Amino acid sequence: MTESAFTQLGVARPIVGALANEGYAEPTPIQRRAIPALLGGRDLLGIAQTGTGKTAAFVLPLLQRLSEEPGRSEPRRPRALILAPTRELAGQIGERIGAYGANLRLKHTVIFGGVGQNPQVRALGRAPDIVVATPGRLLDLIGQKHLRLDRVSILVLDEADRMLDMGFVRDMRKIRALVPEKRQSLLFSATMSRDIAEIAAEFLRDPAEVRISPKEVTIERIKQETIMVDAGAKPDMLAHLLQDASLSRIIVFTRTKHGADKVTKRLVADGVAAQAIHGNKSQSNRQTALRRFREGEIRVLVATDVAARGIDVPDVSHVINFEVPNVPESYVHRIGRTARAGQGGSAISLCDRSEVGYLRDIERLIKRSIERRDVSGLSFVQRERGRSHVAADAPSPRAAFKPRRQRRRRNGQRRAAA
Ligand code: AMP
Repeated sequence: MTESAFTQLGVARPIVGALANEGYAEPTPIQRRAIPALLGGRDLLGIAQTGTGKTAAFVLPLLQRLSEEPGRSEPRRPRALILAPTRELAGQIGERIGAYGANLRLKHTVIFGGVGQNPQVRALGRAPDIVVATPGRLLDLIGQKHLRLDRVSILVLDEADRMLDMGFVRDMRKIRALVPEKRQSLLFSATMSRDIAEIAAEFLRDPAEVRISPKEVTIERIKQETIMVDAGAKPDMLAHLLQDASLSRIIVFTRTKHGADKVTKRLVADGVAAQAIHGNKSQSNRQTALRRFREGEIRVLVATDVAARGIDVPDVSHVINFEVPNVPESYVHRIGRTARAGQGGSAISLCDRSEVGYLRDIERLIKRSIERRDVSGLSFVQRERGRSHVAADAPSPRAAFKPRRQRRRRNGQRRAAA
């Protein structure tokens, strides 16, 4: 299919032109299903995670409808509002709006907490058509009369499950009370739960439903492997894996912020360009790390789950789980950072003896078993029911990887969440 694939979905010419510049040849499944419904004015419930192309699925019709609506933009009275749980995600949505709307005359601005509000207040005065915001700062600015939502005709809740997890439910309801009844509403969530169903019922009217299951996303394109390794030998194992140059752009996930710092320190000591992002880092520090990672200045980004939420970096070659996540859904989210729309990718999980149960939970969720890889001299053989693994007749580990004194902190490692 060519650029007409988007035209066939009803996408207007200036937007199709912008997509061609982005190199998008074909719509992703969520785009194919959501775009016609949204152009037709329907509300939408989208069960899909990042990596599926969901941002374009809602941004394209939103841009098109706004550009076709009569009326001019006014200061402090946006016509569309997109709510997102984190500043990173809000920033990325803003960036996508800029790209997809490059040939349109619509203005947008991004609002989030943790930074001075004055530039945001000034931007609101410049009459943005679209505001992308995290809920807390948005309500702050509304309270100070820097904007009103009485003209919003399109409302999007992106990663609504995350917003609930982060305790934004009251803010979301307050915001709902401030937008007009007559509007188009969209809600995206990676998972469906009773809470999401409740919020969907409050915000949406007779929505079209699109579900892209995580299974479809992970199973098809991501090569998944596990290496059994003692907890104390994980840093050496990571160093060993990184000797392979085909691991070109890597996100290493750790369970805790402290863990992220420790892993980063070791990598840097080994001469690997690495940087950590997590909740204790300042906003500008995180932005810089992300930019450097995106531009290839650093090879390894070490992240906690929360910090990695919404990160959209193309061409991540590998995701490495330094610990196996104890929530199986996190595994799916994490490995979804590689194999972004249309590409392949690999995920490697380092699993110690205490984590084998988590691995089984994950395999149950994704309904497939994850291949065990032996790394001579560093991994161990785990006898598992139904599996027989024979270690390669291993030469002794290379001198560089003499395991350091093993410190077992299994309980400690599991305690703190990032
Ligand atoms: P998202 O799920 O919205 O975070 O998008 C995931 C990634 O896919 C982003 O890097 C987008 O730029 C990219 N993408 C979205 N739609 C398409 C498409 N139709 N073709 C190729 N890449 C796309």
